[in-house]
Amino acid sequence: MEKPLVIIIIGPPGSGKGTQAKLLAEKFGLEYVGSGDILRARQKVGDFTGRKLIKFMGRGELVPSLIVTDLAANELEKFKKRPRINGLVLDGWTRTIMEAILMDEALSWYEWQKNVKVILFDISRKESFNRLTRRRQCKKCGKLIPWIGEFKKLKKCDKCSGELITRPDDKIESIKKRLEEYKNETIPSINYYKKQRRLIKINGEQSIENVFKDILKVL
Ligand code: ADP
Repeated sequence: MEKPLVIIIIGPPGSGKGTQAKLLAEKFGLEYVGSGDILRARQKVGDFTGRKLIKFMGRGELVPSLIVTDLAANELEKFKKRPRINGLVLDGWTRTIMEAILMDEALSWYEWQKNVKVILFDISRKESFNRLTRRRQCKKCGKLIPWIGEFKKLKKCDKCSGELITRPDDKIESIKKRLEEYKNETIPSINYYKKQRRLIKINGEQSIENVFKDILKVL
């Protein structure tokens, strides 16, 4: 049996992680597991953690590794109930060194450690800031509309025609905080993968199609 493929996607906010992760999931029949989506779903539970997540994430602060890793492990456990999966695309899960180490432990525990690829989307701070201040989200279905190419012209959601709004953490202060967290917490986790020679860097400042082509070349 072939080894399941696990792709860990890292990059600054607005670097196109979600867009590319979904394309990869479709192309290779992988399961998409996005930390942001799972945390936003967790907010809706409305308990202590749910309420606290709304505050933390709204301010652009990273959620503690303990909470994130617990949710990640629960998600991975769910896939173990299936007889077989092709693999996983992990979008945004490892944003601190601690998370990177724990994710390695989790992947070993669940026996998916044999074919793990770590992909970094490289975009400048300026590009990230510009994309986040301008991107929009559908109020109805939640789809993120990036501020690139043809998407700039959209007046309504291209999926469900819903109204386009600004995501709660895409306000200036939260964006600044997210970029600061990226610099202080996520870059050290990238260096952790780099030291182990596991990091695949992709230029994220290209069209969606060209970023995808570059990923396919290195996989
Ligand atoms: P982005 O990558 O553009 O910041 P996401 O939707 O992936 O957007 O994440 C939104 C927020 O969720 C982050 O700003 C952070 O507060 C929280 N978050 C998501 N993933 C993690 C993680 N692995 N560790 C800690 N916090 C996280």
